[in-house]
Amino acid sequence: MRTYAMTGGATGIGAQLRQQLLDDGHTVISVDIKEGDVVADLSTAEGRQAAIEGVRALAPDGLDGFIPCAGLPPVAKPLSLITGVNYFAVIATVQGLRDLLEKKRGSVLFVSSNSAPMVASDDPYVAACLAGDEDAACSDIEGRDGHTAYAGSKRALTLWMRRHVVEYAAAGVRLNAVAPGITMTPLTERVYADAELGSVMKEFGDSVPVGRTAQPADIANVMRFMLSDAASYVCGSIFFVDGGSDAMLRPDDF
Ligand code: NAD
Repeated sequence: MRTYAMTGGATGIGAQLRQQLLDDGHTVISVDIKEGDVVADLSTAEGRQAAIEGVRALAPDGLDGFIPCAGLPPVAKPLSLITGVNYFAVIATVQGLRDLLEKKRGSVLFVSSNSAPMVASDDPYVAACLAGDEDAACSDIEGRDGHTAYAGSKRALTLWMRRHVVEYAAAGVRLNAVAPGITMTPLTERVYADAELGSVMKEFGDSVPVGRTAQPADIANVMRFMLSDAASYVCGSIFFVDGGSDAMLRPDDF
């Protein structure tokens, strides 16, 4: 049986994945601001450090996998919170747990989004994230909009993943990402309830080619596969699990 650590295991996609891994008999260490084995606020440097130290204390022999799943929606305020939790906390925790993953030749499964390609890779916000400059990324995003804050954070983390695949693979650690479409979780409920973004998101939900939005299990099923031995040759992949929306929006681009 394996040992996994994750963030964002309290609700939504993370809670569903956590339960599936527990049902398979694995050990799961969950870090979350609400409840978990480690309670930490990933928007702060202290919280990120507490998360890393908490996981290290509970998994001294190493990790078979790490899933940085915690995330905030495009309606979170201030927008810099999205930048901090969705991008900088992810990178900090992956880097802080890397040696534990090397010990067991584990893998990291990032949680991107099918919105990631909607922000250009050379956007200054994405560039500031990738440069590791949290102050610059946070000040850039405060003058912009929630969609860019969210999709840009996912664009940046997916690019970070792709840029580090070779280095991590050489150390025995596979990096992959799942890119969900609209999934019915507390995050989506917050977006649907928003005066500005709610109607746009509902319209996008109505346009999903397979005819419905996702349930958390639709995403967790694929994540569980990507973390399993059956996926041991999957490395550097971005798996869109979005009912066909990305293909609908970008039919000629992959
Ligand atoms: P959710 O709100 O149900 O879960 C997010 C989790 O992150 C919660 O348990 C929450 O407590 C935790 N969290 C939030 N802020 C935190 C902080 N500062 N410190 C520690 N933990 C914190 O949402 P979800 O939809 O299950 O989202 C899970 C992941 O999936 C996120 O990264 C999200 O961006 C991504 N995603 C979701 C959708 C969707 O439509 N729901 C689509 C694409 C990607």
